[in-house]
Amino acid sequence: MTNNSTAGIRQKCDDLKETIGMIIDSLNCRIRNLEEENKKLYDEHFKDKALSEMQSYINEMTDDLNRGFPISKEDYQALSKWQSDHIRDAHNNNWYAGTWEYTFIPTSVGTFGKCICGKCGEKYEWDNN
Ligand SMILES: [Zn+2]
Repeated sequence: MTNNSTAGIRQKCDDLKETIGMIIDSLNCRIRNLEEENKKLYDEHFKDKALSEMQSYINEMTDDLNRGFPISKEDYQALSKWQSDHIRDAHNNNWYAGTWEYTFIPTSVGTFGKCICGKCGEKYEWDNN
């Protein structure tokens, strides 16, 4: 081996090192870009999730407002069923018999409610729990 060919091999090794260094730098840059993109996607997903939760909360509040008084959806459905059953069973399905008196008692553990049939005085109670 001559000094020239040894110097040539060294030069090729140095070139190769430089090329590998450029490839590594390029890959590191790509990794950083992908990490940033991933973070943006995560943030957007989080925003979508937060918006979805807010929309769900708004829908729930709208339903509460549409019911017109402080009663949960489940209690309202149970009350409506009781009223239907009561009119059917106690008043021969005569809906004109049903005038309802409502009472709400707010407490630290929730709002308690009572519905009394104006025709016969039978009552239904719920506790919003
Ligand atoms: Zn009744």
